[in-house]
Amino acid sequence: MKCQVCNKQEAKIKLDHLGKTVCKNCFARSIERRIRRTIRDYNLLKDKDKILVAVSGGKDSSLTLTYLVNYYKYKPGKVFAVYVDRGDAHSVKQALAGEKLSKKLGVPFCTVSFRELFNIGITDIRRIAKKEGLNTCSVCGVFRRRALEIKARELKVDKVATGHNLTDEALSYLMNFSKGELKNFIHLGPISLPKRKGFTQRIKILSRVTDEEIREYVTLKRIKFYPNTCPCRVGSLRYNFLPVLADIKKARPGAEFSIVKIGEEIAELARNKHRDFRLNKCKKCGEPTSQDTCRVCEYLEI
Ligand SMILES: [Zn+2]
Ligand SMILES: [Zn+2]
Repeated sequence: MKCQVCNKQEAKIKLDHLGKTVCKNCFARSIERRIRRTIRDYNLLKDKDKILVAVSGGKDSSLTLTYLVNYYKYKPGKVFAVYVDRGDAHSVKQALAGEKLSKKLGVPFCTVSFRELFNIGITDIRRIAKKEGLNTCSVCGVFRRRALEIKARELKVDKVATGHNLTDEALSYLMNFSKGELKNFIHLGPISLPKRKGFTQRIKILSRVTDEEIREYVTLKRIKFYPNTCPCRVGSLRYNFLPVLADIKKARPGAEFSIVKIGEEIAELARNKHRDFRLNKCKKCGEPTSQDTCRVCEYLEI
């Protein structure tokens, strides 16, 4: 069977959202075009930007880092890589994979650890999660976001880039559809609220490329990565929505794309409706929070 786009090469890969089977070249072009369009549509990058990439050694962040390094090759902007060390068994190998790739790409690499910033380790995270009746991942995420924010300020970067892909985004939207709170949507989408809200802006350049496509693409482009799925994600709301998304995709291939499309539109509506959205300052540490005390401070008390 010939590629249904160029009609020349042999068709190898199915593109769900187009319902077409394409050759390797057309596949790679489709991925690169979608990343370019996400960057353009949401104005994710400026030529002079300093960007901190959160690397985990995994496929998504490895592709994000590689793409951004190439993007800034002939531009004045600069790219840095950081690994957030949670102190678990995976950390050493993941950090090494991240460091190796950064070295290869010529990017300054640093690590930041839960132990040095908050004096906690993975056992403390598990203890806090258990006490709060939460999943480990949600507690871990709170500290991880703060760790990235601290490093971003220290390096005076303009933006933090994460490896979230379209599948991650679809799960976030499904989760938030089920919660039914429009206000929650203001934080979703390929770019976060501007810096004046107290956080360094977050960007997700892979938010139009699915998990499977990224796996295929990095293999095709021989981008090395450490295969990592967080062991503590089992039981998280996000994880519970994985089979739901799989069922929706079975009923309607390409539905992942439509969920993200409508989700992004709702996020835009939410931002317009809640334009006056303000955060308080945590009374303990001064970081922005919607409560009196931020969750980092709250968790550290437990
Ligand atoms: Zn082709
Ligand atoms: Zn605080």
